[in-house]
Amino acid sequence: MPKTLKKKAAKKAPAQKRAVAKKPATPKKIRYVYYFGDGKADGNGSMKPLLGGKGANLHEMTRIGLPVPPGFTITTEVCTYFYDNKKQYPPELEAQVASALAKIEKSVSKKLGDRANPLLLSVRSGARDSMPGMMDTILNLGMNDEVVEIVAEKSGNPRFAWDSYRRFLQMYGDVVMGVQKREGEDHEPFETVIEEVKHAAHVQKDTELSPDDLKTLVERFKQLIKERTGKTFPQDARQQLWGAIGAVFGSWNNDRAIVYRRKYGIPHEWGTAVNVQTMVFGNRGDTSATGVAFTRDPATGEKVFYGEYLINAQGEDVVAGVRTPHPVAQLAQEMPAAHKELLKVRSLLEKHFRDMQDLEFTVEDNNLYILQTRNGKRTGFAAVRIATDMVAEKLITKEDALRRIPADSLSHLLAPIFDRQSVRSAQKIGTGLAAGPGAASGRLAFNAKDAVELAHKGERVILARIETSPEDLRGMIAAEGILTARGGVSSHAALVARQMGKVCVCGALALKIDYAAQTLAAGSATLKRGDYISIDGTAGEVYAGEVKTAASEVVQVLVEKKLDPKKSQTYQEFASLMSWADKARKLDVRTNADSPDQVATAIAFGAKGIGLCRTEHMFFEGDRIDAMREMILAQSLDERKAAVAKLLPYQRSDFVGIFRVLKGLPATIRFLDPPLHEFLPHTEAQQKDLAAKLNVPLEHIARRVEELHEFNPMLGHRGCRLGISFPEVTEMQARAIFEAAAEVQKSGIKVKPEIMIPLVGFPKELRLQIDIVHRVASEVAKAKKVKFNYLVGTMLEIPRAALVADEIAKDAEFFSFGTNDLTQTTLGMSRDDSGSFLPHYQELEIVKNNPFATIDQAGVGKLMEISRDQAHKTRPDIKLGICGEHGGDPESVKFCHRIGLDYVSCSPFRVPVAKLAAAQAALAG
Ligand code: ADP
Ligand code: MG
Ligand code: MG
Repeated sequence: MPKTLKKKAAKKAPAQKRAVAKKPATPKKIRYVYYFGDGKADGNGSMKPLLGGKGANLHEMTRIGLPVPPGFTITTEVCTYFYDNKKQYPPELEAQVASALAKIEKSVSKKLGDRANPLLLSVRSGARDSMPGMMDTILNLGMNDEVVEIVAEKSGNPRFAWDSYRRFLQMYGDVVMGVQKREGEDHEPFETVIEEVKHAAHVQKDTELSPDDLKTLVERFKQLIKERTGKTFPQDARQQLWGAIGAVFGSWNNDRAIVYRRKYGIPHEWGTAVNVQTMVFGNRGDTSATGVAFTRDPATGEKVFYGEYLINAQGEDVVAGVRTPHPVAQLAQEMPAAHKELLKVRSLLEKHFRDMQDLEFTVEDNNLYILQTRNGKRTGFAAVRIATDMVAEKLITKEDALRRIPADSLSHLLAPIFDRQSVRSAQKIGTGLAAGPGAASGRLAFNAKDAVELAHKGERVILARIETSPEDLRGMIAAEGILTARGGVSSHAALVARQMGKVCVCGALALKIDYAAQTLAAGSATLKRGDYISIDGTAGEVYAGEVKTAASEVVQVLVEKKLDPKKSQTYQEFASLMSWADKARKLDVRTNADSPDQVATAIAFGAKGIGLCRTEHMFFEGDRIDAMREMILAQSLDERKAAVAKLLPYQRSDFVGIFRVLKGLPATIRFLDPPLHEFLPHTEAQQKDLAAKLNVPLEHIARRVEELHEFNPMLGHRGCRLGISFPEVTEMQARAIFEAAAEVQKSGIKVKPEIMIPLVGFPKELRLQIDIVHRVASEVAKAKKVKFNYLVGTMLEIPRAALVADEIAKDAEFFSFGTNDLTQTTLGMSRDDSGSFLPHYQELEIVKNNPFATIDQAGVGKLMEISRDQAHKTRPDIKLGICGEHGGDPESVKFCHRIGLDYVSCSPFRVPVAKLAAAQAALAG
């Protein structure tokens, strides 16, 4: 059979073929290399897993006719192969690369390593998700001692030729040959040499170096490589190319890339692609430039073209801050034609990708080239503004908007800003670029290590650097805010802050940061390590000392009701988004709240009732704790009853307040849960005070504390076990609730209490407690002559209860998953003690996420599904909710949607986040 026919037959009956094949069929030729150029591309934008984000978009941009220099992409599968096979390549790769390279050579009429017409290439990494600055890129590949002379001659621009060569040596030396900063060195070795040569030439800027200076630099770089590695820099272009390809694949596993992937949950298996592309040159003189731009402002979301560029520069110069870049608007004067083209590209890209784009461009001799585009990283503010604007511009639908805004972004909109009064009296010491909105105060740290240490001690930290680099990542994660003295809107600091939602001011030029002295000086002020400093990332301002914060605009409108909603654009965007989310979502969102204030806040954010009211929190206020302590210290039932009776009016009035605010929304109220010793004083001085106050002997208090001591309070005498030992407490709590219900109901406001018994493991435990509740309810109803509706249910937080949920559901009218305790008991892991090993577990990827922040779906989640199924056997319409901390975590909320819960409950400020996550879950189907 001819080859082509064979192929066709195989295509037609793949299933059959698979079914009968005993040994694997002759492997189909795998395509490892995808070409793009001259308006045609083998790949497209949807192929990110295979071609990486950068690669896929290079193919897509080529297809839509943008000026992209031709090149090819080596797939991520090669990276996987590389790591699975001791850093060897698939045997087919070499030929495929050779043929794609030939295509480039034909397209641009130049040849790699050619004497007459040498081709220069860039070799660029590119993972599926962009990992800015984490992996390596090599430019001007193909340069050598001969080629540089040819390029100098052909371009008539020796400065350009030697500048390109020295850049290539620098990148190749660093990335491929490993010439990097050594332990104890403050600067990159190549940078040190540049500084020395600049110094000797008496110039400030790299552009002022003469061709001869650059020749010196080239010689010194070659020497440096030889000194540090013992090897000579390879002159052969093909050897250079394979060295670069290997180094880019190798950079997938460099330290900072690994840290980054862990932080953003990018799987290590994905691998990176390698893009090999024809060079275009922004360093050819004053008619050339390189730049980066965002189609909208990534910090605020405003619809303005935003970015910066440098004349006569290449590659990362803009980002690295070697010179101060110009704002992109200025290009209109300096290179009008290229600027006009760029504006066209801006609108084309947004229309095509229907999202804000972050693009990289180079102008070579007034010709514009686009080298990269991706959906731009943005702050929470910008995410909301861009999405709502794009809905108004009919670029995307409301559902798109809901899907694309990370639910957590909404917490940025609610975060505090600086208080106007305090700002006025604060000492302003500098201004810079507003790179990450919000307000942050904290202690000054000048390096990542200090920032991490201070944060570990529970301090808020502001990390101040002259400029940041990927090595600072750990410190940036630990800090509340990031401050740099140098760098623009596309600097590393700005980029990372945007992505992490950190408050950031960058390029505050007036600040003198001295790493050696550990000081930051500005004007007359000098701050030391550990001093307080405050930064306003919305205005780009820096203050000495601590500045008080005030509520965000959304909170001022909704909660404090001080701001006219019409005056706050942020609020209006928030409100639209919430109304779209409410339409889309299926899950209800309730709140965990214990006081009328908290409930009011949550309702203002759209909560549909209380999912968890912890009654013990009410016992800590004012004098109430004394009555509680009397109850605990009581030596007889009568004494205890007398003390409990004192608590009744307090609890009742709390519930009256809460029911009034709820206006008919349901309230899940949990009975006393924590072990009693938590209410007693533990130091001798405090015990003495209490003895005097309650007029009981000190020894009695000390003895009781001793008696209540438990080896493992989390698993001790707590939850319903208390109510079973002390039924009078249960009775009092039930009475307080029902009397409050009666009172509020009489005033014409509906009440819907849902009484929740904690820590139930056995059906009988619940039975005993429910009997008390029902008895008290009917007593109160009779005495007050009112009818009220209520439910009694339980918290599901013990694996036993989850497994016998069918039995428990005979009595329970609802279940609420207490996932904090359910996680502790399922994992046998104490939340409060897990800090000593959990971070290491995450590093080793034993657990992907902190199970106390995001539900462990495979374990705890499985148990939730089992109990749902068990409960449905007995009560098909039982109400199911979740009230653990997880109720405000987007991933967990989505899980709760998928397993069919009725509601999630979370703290008031997480309510909008949970609503958006619930909408996203519903839209995901
Ligand atoms: P990163 O992923 O770190 O952004 P890139 O592969 O985008 O790395 O390369 C960094 C920079 O190098 C680009 O922004 C661009 O300025 C420059 N560059 C990359 N490829 C080329 C090329 N073919 N021609 C000119 N400059 C290039
Ligand atoms: Mg890039
Ligand atoms: Mg619990």
